[in-house]
Amino acid sequence: MKDITKKYTNGEVTIVWVPDKCIHSGICFRGLGEVFDPQRKPWIVPEAATTEQIVNQVKKCPSGALSYYMNSDT
Ligand code: SF4
Repeated sequence: MKDITKKYTNGEVTIVWVPDKCIHSGICFRGLGEVFDPQRKPWIVPEAATTEQIVNQVKKCPSGALSYYMNSDT
């Protein structure tokens, strides 16, 4: 299995996406389409919403493909 991890940050929060875990449920882009848009490259643009919006949406990912950490914690 490929071990790819992608990271996208707005400077405050970092969104971590593991493509192999993504089940393409669409929950992220239906919930927060400004940030998550699979038609776009890059498909995640973290500057398009607030950190709070991002955190709330990432928590709803059913597969665990999306996670996040606060940059201040690293
Ligand atoms: S919510 Fe999670 S599993 Fe669903 S499309 Fe987004 S990243 Fe993939």
